[in-house]
Amino acid sequence: MTDLTPTPDTIARLRDEFGAELAAAETDRALQAVRDRYLARKGGVIAALMKAVAAAAPEARPALGKLTNDLKTDIEARVAEKRAALDASRAPAGAVDVTLPGRLTPLGHRHPLTVVRDQMEDIFTRMGFAIVEGPEVEDEWHCFDALNMPAEHPARDMQDTLYLASPLKGDGGADDVRTLLRTHTSSMQIRYMQAHTPPIRIVVPGRVYRRDDLDLTHTPAFSQVEGLVVGEGISLADLKGTLTAFARDIFGPRSRLRFRPSFFPYTEPSAEVDISCWKCDGAGCAMCKRSGWLEILGCGMVHPAVFESVGYDAERYTGFAWGMGIERVAILRYQVEDIRLFYENDLRFLEQFPY
Ligand SMILES: [Zn+2]
Repeated sequence: MTDLTPTPDTIARLRDEFGAELAAAETDRALQAVRDRYLARKGGVIAALMKAVAAAAPEARPALGKLTNDLKTDIEARVAEKRAALDASRAPAGAVDVTLPGRLTPLGHRHPLTVVRDQMEDIFTRMGFAIVEGPEVEDEWHCFDALNMPAEHPARDMQDTLYLASPLKGDGGADDVRTLLRTHTSSMQIRYMQAHTPPIRIVVPGRVYRRDDLDLTHTPAFSQVEGLVVGEGISLADLKGTLTAFARDIFGPRSRLRFRPSFFPYTEPSAEVDISCWKCDGAGCAMCKRSGWLEILGCGMVHPAVFESVGYDAERYTGFAWGMGIERVAILRYQVEDIRLFYENDLRFLEQFPY
């Protein structure tokens, strides 16, 4: 307990002690503690000192009282001064501390399939193609009949189709149509040709549906990019040139294409197209299964029967068409082994494509 025998020496000592404590107080809380220790009405050093002075010898009281009052006034002033200094050293409320490390805001990005689709659209747009989209719910005529696949055509069995339970018109009349989820974007070729006259240059990106089970390489729903060019004097050379230009743009300038004869009901002649493996440049590697080639799309010259179904003069116009899977291109581009990864929305997978 501090000795509070009221003498000038005691008061001088208290002033020194206060000065040392004040100098050491570097926070609001510490300053408040020093202030309370000296100035509290109950239990404060000054209050106790005043009591002691009141009990001192009468002839000493006036001088001691003045010294005590001076000390009290001095302490009040210096506490206020220190408080102001502490306030001034702090940043104003709401101010930004530019020395703090920044916080990273996580940025979203496009899905890899969207990246590939946008890139494909961009390439064909630069070649002068229009981008059009069509309905995913189709009728059999647009999806099959008009594409040279009549009811008895084996190709209708080839494509395991998802038919809708309720037809658009279910009255069983002559105009009754069975509706389905389109099995290919080619149905939009028909719709577009019905509404336009040649020349035509379109690409049709969109989702298509097959009755497939989900496994490494199959999904019941996937995305295609369809292409159609119709005009006078369009030849197989135009088809080859267009697809080669596309392949070089998306897989690199050294890409070569290989056309293998194939069959589609709506094109004649038809071809499956392989691209030289972009990884080994055709030498053979694990990705291309040592063949040097990667399957990428199907194509052909538009069958005259297709032109007839939309009322085009098949003697006057020729054209070519192709269809390729967006997933297929993405799988080849990014070397993804399992197509299901594109649909599972696992961020650990998607974050590897920060575009
Ligand atoms: Zn290879």
